[in-house]
Amino acid sequence: MVHFVGAGPGAEDLITLRGKQYLEQADVIIYAGSLVNPALLKWAKEGCAIYNSATMTLEEVLHVMEDGERKGFTTVRLHTGDPAIYGAIKEQMDGLAERGIDYDICPGVSSLFGAAASLQIEYTLPRVSQSVIITRAEGRTPVPEGESLKELASHGATMVLFLSSALAKKVQEDLTAGGYGPDTPVAVVYKATWPDERILRTTLGELPEAMRQADIQKTALIVVGKVLSGDYEKSKLYDPAFTTEYRKGKD
Ligand code: SAH
Repeated sequence: MVHFVGAGPGAEDLITLRGKQYLEQADVIIYAGSLVNPALLKWAKEGCAIYNSATMTLEEVLHVMEDGERKGFTTVRLHTGDPAIYGAIKEQMDGLAERGIDYDICPGVSSLFGAAASLQIEYTLPRVSQSVIITRAEGRTPVPEGESLKELASHGATMVLFLSSALAKKVQEDLTAGGYGPDTPVAVVYKATWPDERILRTTLGELPEAMRQADIQKTALIVVGKVLSGDYEKSKLYDPAFTTEYRKGKD
């Protein structure tokens, strides 16, 4: 059996209870060493074999899983944040299915939410933005047609950019071409929830220079949108005049 487990964004106590239990039971742990906090490995039992996938190919990862299965082992594949976001788990699941190996997925706290907590913001503010676009700038991995930053920017929604910290200039150019003004607030969260987290607050116009000066090139999210700047309308849900299923509104 293979458990794909979301490790959370970094802080070692932001893994789920289920994820921690799987780590404690595992005979084999394969963790994404470039982003998963190694402090989580302290939950591994004695004798657990630990592999860092940063230096492995897909075939090598699958081979370790297959070998474990043959020995009746439980394997945990530990991914950063939540495995469903840029986790490259599909190819692993397909490889396991081909080999007849069972697997399941334990969700985790994505860095998307770790960053919002660190920034103390709500991504969805009434009259400001009711949508969150999760995307990335095009780098070595191509982005399908119709999902260019320029096109996505035209919605004016909150945007959270993964895997884009080395592409700040492109982010600025494309979002500007898509209609975001140079004053649009931007926050860069480096290593959200880790002990060495850093937050950079800037504007779209200043973004590349601000990131250069702060020397942030990886392990960061770029959050863009007016939800960062404070103006909004209060929610209907807690408005005294608003009737809900649970509460009658007062005139
Ligand atoms: N599955 C992960 C994302 C993996 S892709 C998740 O749900 O968070 C790797 C990218 O995620 C990094 O390039 C960076 O953009 C972002 N990332 C991962 N952990 C981060 C953290 N603690 N703080 C900021 N960004 C992070």
